[in-house]
Amino acid sequence: MAGLFDGTPLERPVTCETCGKPLADCRCPRDASGRLLPPGKQTARILLEKRSGGKWVTRIAGLDPCASDLGDLLHQLKHRCAAGGAVQDDHILIQGDHREAAGEMLAAAGYRVRIQ
Ligand SMILES: [Zn+2]
Repeated sequence: MAGLFDGTPLERPVTCETCGKPLADCRCPRDASGRLLPPGKQTARILLEKRSGGKWVTRIAGLDPCASDLGDLLHQLKHRCAAGGAVQDDHILIQGDHREAAGEMLAAAGYRVRIQ
């Protein structure tokens, strides 16, 4: 039974298993190693911190900076919370205590949320 697998190269499919597009066209969220990482597989940890000067800041940690568009999320959160903010060290910072609103927005975007 020589040549049983002749002519059937055991190539891996070059299409995305989620969206079915060729990998070059796939825009599914992936981490830095190329692994699929949709929002439902990411847990946003929402913390409240007190800054020097007594100001509160809401910190959102735990989101993958490759698989998630932190800049876009920041934009949406600033709009939702009507507050200033920034992306810093792969965390999203929003001025003030916006844990509830941020949690609701991220949950609506499909993320798992843990408010601490
Ligand atoms: Zn895809």
